[in-house]
Amino acid sequence: YAKQRGKNRVERYQKRYDELLRRHSVLENELRHAIEREQLRLVFQPVVALPSMRPVGAEALLRWHHPELGAVRPDEFIPVAEESGLIAMIGSWVLDQACRQLAQWLAGGHDVWVSVNMSPKELHAADYAAQVAEVLQRYRVPPQRLVLEVTEHAVATDMDELIRRLCELRSTGVRIALDDFGAGYSSLGQLRNLPVDILKIDHALVAEPESRTGTAAPLVDVVVRLGHRLGLEVLAEGIGTPAQRAVVEEAGCRLGQGSLFGWGVPAEHLQAQLETVRSSGARPVPVQRSRP
Ligand code: C2E
Ligand code: MG
Ligand code: MG
Ligand code: MG
Repeated sequence: YAKQRGKNRVERYQKRYDELLRRHSVLENELRHAIEREQLRLVFQPVVALPSMRPVGAEALLRWHHPELGAVRPDEFIPVAEESGLIAMIGSWVLDQACRQLAQWLAGGHDVWVSVNMSPKELHAADYAAQVAEVLQRYRVPPQRLVLEVTEHAVATDMDELIRRLCELRSTGVRIALDDFGAGYSSLGQLRNLPVDILKIDHALVAEPESRTGTAAPLVDVVVRLGHRLGLEVLAEGIGTPAQRAVVEEAGCRLGQGSLFGWGVPAEHLQAQLETVRSSGARPVPVQRSRP
C-alpha cells in the first residue's frame, strides 16, 4: 500500500515537472518572436524624493502581453530569456526604449533619470559597455541620467570580474544601482568593494514594518546609515503604506519607490504626472494605481 502511495507521489512530481518543462519551452518559443510581434512594452514606476514626494526618476519595468498566454510576469520570463540567450536581444530592446523615452522627457524639460534592470548575463557580454555608450549617443542622453541596476544575484558570481565590468560601465558615465539589497545574497563586506552609486533596499526589508516598533524598522535604519556612510544614495523599494514611508523617512532615506507613490505605468501617464508637478510646483497627484 505504502509502495503504491509512493509511486503515486513520484508520478505526481513527474507530471508537475513535465508541465514546467512544457511551459518553459512554450515561453521560450513565444518569447523569440515577442519583439517583432510587438508584445513587449515598458512601464515606468516613479522614484520620488523624500519627504517631498516629488518624482525625480523612474524605473523601467518590462511587460509581456501574449495574445493567448495573457500577461506573463517578468519574474517568470526573464529567467527563460536568460537561459535561452534571448536576454541579449530583449535587453538591448529595453535599453533602447528606455533611453528613447528618457531623451523625450529631457527634451520636454523634465529633470528626471531613468533606471534599467540588467541581467548578469548582459553585464558579462564583452561589448555591453560599448553598447550602452552607443545607445546614449544615439539619443544624446547625458550618461548620468541613466542608472543601470544590478541585482545581488550577480554578486554571487565572480566578484573580481563583476567589479571590472561595473568599472567599465561606470567609465561611460552611467550610474550603477545595487538592486534588492538585503534580500539575501551579498554580504555587507562585499558592498564596500562594489563600484555602485545607489543602494536599493529590497521590498522585504521595507514591507515588514507595519508599525514603527516593528522588527524591520531597525534594519531599515542600519542599512540607510550604512549606505550613507559608504557615500551612496539610498533608495527604499516597495513602500506601500504611509507607515512604511514614515519608517523610511525617519531612517533618513531620501529616495523612495513603491505602490504608495504609484505602480509602473505607461510613459504617457508618468509624463502627465511630471507635468502636473512642474506647473503647480505642488505635491504630485499619485499616478493611477492600476497594477498591470
Ligand atoms: P525589481 O527590479 O526589484 O523591480 C521591482 C518590482 O517590484 C517590480 O515588479 C515592481 O512592480 C514591484 N513593486 C513596485 N512597487 C511595489 C510595492 O509597493 N509592493 C510590491 N509588493 N511590489 C512592488 P515586476 O515589474 O514584476 O518586476 C520583477 C522583477 O523582474 C524586477 O525586480 C526585475 O528584477 C525583473 N525585471 C523587470 N523588468 C526587467 C528588464 O527589463 N530587464 C531585466 N533584466 N529584468 C527585469
Ligand atoms: Mg530593479
Ligand atoms: Mg528591486
Ligand atoms: Mg526584484
